[in-house]
This record gives sequence, structure tokens and C-alpha cells, in this order.
Amino acid sequence: MMTLSLCSRKQVDFIMTVNGPVSSGDMGVSLVHEHILVDFIGADSITDQRWDRSKVINRSLPYLKQIRELGCRTFVECTPAFLGRDPLLLKSLSDSSGLNIITNTGYYGAGNNKYLPKHAFYETADQIAERWKMEWDSGIAGTGVKPGFIKIGVMDGHLSDLHIKLVEAAARTHLKTGLVIASHTGPAIPAFEQLAILKDEGVSPEAFIWVHAQTENDLSFHIKAAKMGAWISLDGLNDNNLDEYIRMIKNMKERGLINKVLLSHDSGWYHPGEENGGNYKGYSTLLEKLVPLLRKEDFTEMEIKQLLVINPSNAFTIRVHRIN
Ligand SMILES: [Zn+2]
Repeated sequence: MMTLSLCSRKQVDFIMTVNGPVSSGDMGVSLVHEHILVDFIGADSITDQRWDRSKVINRSLPYLKQIRELGCRTFVECTPAFLGRDPLLLKSLSDSSGLNIITNTGYYGAGNNKYLPKHAFYETADQIAERWKMEWDSGIAGTGVKPGFIKIGVMDGHLSDLHIKLVEAAARTHLKTGLVIASHTGPAIPAFEQLAILKDEGVSPEAFIWVHAQTENDLSFHIKAAKMGAWISLDGLNDNNLDEYIRMIKNMKERGLINKVLLSHDSGWYHPGEENGGNYKGYSTLLEKLVPLLRKEDFTEMEIKQLLVINPSNAFTIRVHRIN
């Protein structure tokens, strides 16, 4: 924890966790795309009465303690509003695990708009952006917990008008808050359409995380987006795709773009409605298996630090990235 001093001569770079601002330099080894709880019931039916916080904590805490022991310090929880985002749950887990946890504002349009609240369909981009900015200014729904990034989601083809509006709302929220935009995207087509909208809005690609970029098989698109300045999030790591991850990371390294790669598992999570939260997958593959493999493949300690510590810190530092 740190206090932001108004009289300090130079503004300290910081990230926003569920327990308040933390100096970017203290973010440490970070998992940038994981989940504690996801509920796919839909925006029309979801409430936080659908899960018992103490049960979710009992189920998820051992996995968080495990990665804390492996050296992880910051955990970015990517569950959006209307899909089970629960700031108080995350605050309690942060306190008991010793991890920094980051939550988000924004709406998830993927899944055929099932997770969008009604007002997202008829409000303007500015009205939606105002709601997200309000969470940054005053905290989420009276909890006092502030978001540390904007999470949106789009379908994997061309963007619909509704999703274009969500991207515009994200761009406008970014310009007012400095929160980075992580967009559930997948293939290259919607990734580059979103970057074009950001450009029209005056937002630099540095403010955009291309989530699930690993699902794009043509790796030249990773290079192209990274050269523009976007973050390439390879966030579906598991025990069975380590070789594929090495190949994708090397592709970036060969082009001198390792400074634009983010790594994570998209793992977890507690499923409300299922016995004891259903199947829960842990978050240890990156630190237990990928890092030793990277060493074997002659990645230096500095390059590994770049991937695990420096890139997350640069991506999630609160900063407006305007096209100048
Ligand atoms: Zn996810």
C-alpha cells in the first residue's frame, strides 16, 4: 500500500488494486489474466446472492497461496461486471493471500451480448463511459473498491455497431482515467478493428491489451499489433501447450518485441451452482513449468523479468496514452 502525496515533486507511477494504489515498482511477478469466480447465468439473472463468499474463499485461497509461495505478487482478476465480478470477495482474498488483486470496470459483449445490462443496448458511448468513470472516481457499487483496468469483450468476427460503441466507451474512459483497456478479442480481425477505433478516438495502441491473442494462428499479426504498440496477451497457458507458448514467445523475441508480451493462464474458477464450485484449475504452470523451459531455451533472467514483472507493470500503470 502507498499513499499518493500531492506535494511529491514527481508523480509516482502506480497501479490500482482492490486495496488501493500500489507503486508500479512493487507490482512484482504478475498473472495478468485469471479468474476467481465466473457465473454464466446471464446479465438478466445474476446477483451476488448466487454464491456464498466464504465457500468461494475456501475453494480459491489455496490456489492463491500456492502462487504467492512460488513468487507471484499481483493477480489480475478479469471477471467483468454481470459475469460475477465481486470486489468485496477479491478484497478479502487479497487480505488473506497477501497478493495484490486488481479488478475492472467495463462490459463484456462477447457471448452474443448475454452479459450486457439492458442500458448498454440503448445508452450512448458517452453515457456508458460515464458509468465506468464513476466506478473509477467513487468505487464500485458503494464498496469503495476501484477498478485497475477496463475489461470489455467483443465477438471474434467483424465488430457489430453495439461492440463498436463499447470500444468507443472504453477509449473515452481511458482518456479520462488512464486505465488500460483489456479486450476479450481472440483473432486478428476484431483486434485491428478495435485499434482503428482507438486511433479515431485519439487513444494510442499502448492502452490496448489484445486478450486471447494466442487464438490467432497467424503469428505475423502478433508482430504487427506489437509494432503498433499494443500488448499481446498470450493468456491461455496450461500444462499441455507449453511448446506452443515457447514458439509464440520466441516469435516475438526474434523481432525484438518481447517487451510487448503478457502471459497468463485464464485459469480458475469457482462456478456458482456447481457442487463446491465445480472444476477449479490452478495458476502455477507459468512459474512451475514455463519459466524453467524459458531458461532451457536460453532466455536470460532479464528477459524473464521483462515478461513476468516489467511488462505487466508497464501495461497496468495508470497513465493516459494519447496519440500526440
Ligand atoms: Zn478470461
